[in-house]
Amino acid sequence: MIARRLALGAALAAPALLALRPAAAQTAPAPVPPSPQAPGFYRFRLGEITVVMIHDGMVFRANPLEGLVVNQPASAVQAALEAAMLPTRNLVNPYIVTFLETPRGVVAFDAGTGAGQLPAGTGLLPQNLAAAGIRPEDVTLICVSHFHGDHITGLTTADNRPFYPNAEVAVPAAEWAWWSEEANAARSPQFQRGNFANTARRFGPLRARLRMFEDGQEIAPGIRAIATPGHTPGHCAFHVSSGGEQLFVTADAAGRPELFLRHPGWHSVFDFDPVMAEQSRRRLFGRIAAERARMAAYHFNFPGTGFIAREGDGFRFVPADWTGVV
Ligand SMILES: [Zn+2]
Repeated sequence: MIARRLALGAALAAPALLALRPAAAQTAPAPVPPSPQAPGFYRFRLGEITVVMIHDGMVFRANPLEGLVVNQPASAVQAALEAAMLPTRNLVNPYIVTFLETPRGVVAFDAGTGAGQLPAGTGLLPQNLAAAGIRPEDVTLICVSHFHGDHITGLTTADNRPFYPNAEVAVPAAEWAWWSEEANAARSPQFQRGNFANTARRFGPLRARLRMFEDGQEIAPGIRAIATPGHTPGHCAFHVSSGGEQLFVTADAAGRPELFLRHPGWHSVFDFDPVMAEQSRRRLFGRIAAERARMAAYHFNFPGTGFIAREGDGFRFVPADWTGVV
């Protein structure tokens, strides 16, 4: 152990050496995904309905200092992670799906990563949904924020049958227009081009229950779309209101809050159009902060719900306490 620490110390003291060997930063052993943790779900009251956050697993990013934030040097990312007491290697990227229990059935915001379909550590939604007492057949509506694989793969099973057999699937019209048209592939970032095939595959068995919505449209009573483009061409957040209370479902308008909310001007490698994404992020989280409203995100640490405070040029995520928990 002492030798290991000395070796690490020597490496830190010799950044030039590291620069000559860029692969060295990625040789940290990849952690084994943890075994599923109980309970994996978190319920709270919102007016007359109940919100259920479902843990869908996580993956690790081996070297978050390189390539994750595209417009900052590694030193700035390292400082932000250290300030937030986060590791600078093997940073967790969590997945959380927000559900609503309403008098008209269960509503889901995105579908999850799909059991056994994405890398190890993901795909925990089916077991945590069952633990929360919700059956896939109880879900009557899925509001899709955008078509990245970690949000739509769970629409169907590994053999491409609908996972939620009774759900209508509502998608942003702008998102559908982009990813359903193969001709747009040449105008999409290289690493996002797999979305075209995955869109065709996942929505194929769901065409009969697919419907489109536009910015500002009320998708179901008390649920309204908020266009927040940039992360993808048609990315949407959602506004939920019930009994005088409100919740913003922010999806991927911001990734990890310790990076992209604390510094909303930081651009993520996952953003299709980073400048547009920044504009959407500032607008959406500025509104949530001004209204002191509750929010729920997809990639914050579980349970991923709380409030947003302004701090300097950016924002601070304030996790919710036990108020309203049922
Ligand atoms: Zn995502």
